[in-house]
Amino acid sequence: MHDQRNQDQGPDKPEQRQAALPADITDGAAESETVVFVCATCGVPLTGPLTLLPGVPEAPYYAWWDADEPGPSPATVPSGCYAIETEPYGGPLVVAQAPGPVMPRHGEHWNVEGKPLVSQGPRGNIVINPGDARGLRLQHASPACCGATPDGGMNQLCACGTLVATLCSDCCLPYELHLSADHVRAVRP
Ligand SMILES: [Zn+2]
Ligand SMILES: [Zn+2]
Repeated sequence: MHDQRNQDQGPDKPEQRQAALPADITDGAAESETVVFVCATCGVPLTGPLTLLPGVPEAPYYAWWDADEPGPSPATVPSGCYAIETEPYGGPLVVAQAPGPVMPRHGEHWNVEGKPLVSQGPRGNIVINPGDARGLRLQHASPACCGATPDGGMNQLCACGTLVATLCSDCCLPYELHLSADHVRAVRP
């Protein structure tokens, strides 16, 4: 009986999108959404208190080619917030039949032979403002000009030496930090 209704949603609807919606049914729901992300290996806090957004915002428009000095664009996610990424993100990048996004909120990507690349990276990353991260150290996993790129996968080390996140901070890319859902835990502040 319920099958009919479920089919209306279509097979491609990502379940994470529904799970990411804030529950505003009860009073104080917004407060109960506030969490701190900690390293799943050692338990050290990796962020301040963060509040869930209904989805990842559009990256702010930024004319990086006109900037006086190279540097990161304005951050995609406002400080104090986090959002769940439903698309695959970052490395490994694989050759595809047709060009597609290599990372959300960014254009196409081609290898040195001119073949289009797409992301086969993880889904479900926790996207935060890089300024809200605590105690992470950059270990480049792919070539970059002035910042870091997600093309090689995770590039952020916890103090315990575990890779836990991916920083995207090169001048022509969306400015974001993606915590790996498999390597962090959300706790009450
Ligand atoms: Zn750790
Ligand atoms: Zn740059």
